[in-house]
Amino acid sequence: MARRNKIYEGKAKILYEGPEPGTIVQYFKDDATAFNAEKKEVVEGKGVLNNRLSEFFMSGLNQIGVPTHFIRRLNMREQLVKSCEIVPLEIIVRNFAAGSLSKRLGIAEGTQLPRPVIEYCYKDDALGDPLVSEEHIAAFGWASQQDMDDIVSLALRVNDFLSGVMLAVGIRLIDFKIEVGRIYEGDFQRLIVADEISPDSCRLWDIESGRKLDKDVFRRDLGNLTDAYSEVARRLGVMPKSPATKPTLIN
Ligand code: UDP
Repeated sequence: MARRNKIYEGKAKILYEGPEPGTIVQYFKDDATAFNAEKKEVVEGKGVLNNRLSEFFMSGLNQIGVPTHFIRRLNMREQLVKSCEIVPLEIIVRNFAAGSLSKRLGIAEGTQLPRPVIEYCYKDDALGDPLVSEEHIAAFGWASQQDMDDIVSLALRVNDFLSGVMLAVGIRLIDFKIEVGRIYEGDFQRLIVADEISPDSCRLWDIESGRKLDKDVFRRDLGNLTDAYSEVARRLGVMPKSPATKPTLIN
């Protein structure tokens, strides 16, 4: 069998050269990391669940006209995506206070924010992805003013879509992170949603019980991560026949 060219290996995913130019195969690993990879564990089945959940969210976004890198799922752990030039920013959208915002500003977790708040972190593991302002982004040329306008509009559309989808299954979207990439079409550049959208990069709380159904289960040792992600997948009808403990059986 021919060996594929690995382009990049990150904490939760591996990227391989895709079958056609301009495509990439994104492989979802079972590795869970937190606190800039200080805490690490293999969580069996997480990659399979995130591949499915990211497919569900990204294809939904494509269908409502929010462009993403997602083309199609290939198998249990892999999806075909458009290759793009990643903007070196993590774009965080918050609807309710939690995590670093709560710590930084002393706002109790779960407090509803007066409106969605967008924050940016500079993607640099060695620096621990520091929070940056639009001034830094403009001064250091990480994104242009036009890019920033497009990023805000993409982020808010993703927020409305995800909030609505989750609300329909009794889950509150507290916050999430997206990444965006540039694709070139002739003389034009377009920004699209890239990377993944999964419970690894969102905070999802059950509306009735407040139970956390996201990576905080791992970060804060609140129980079994696969159970939490399976619950999200089950409610969304993404893996309807999946037994919670054996998600790898489902293709
Ligand atoms: N997030 C992420 N990757 C990061 C940092 C944050 O996916 O490197 C997500 C995180 O899961 C949460 C949101 O962005 O849904 C806001 O995270 P926060 O800034 O509160 O960071 P944390 O408290 O997790 O350090």
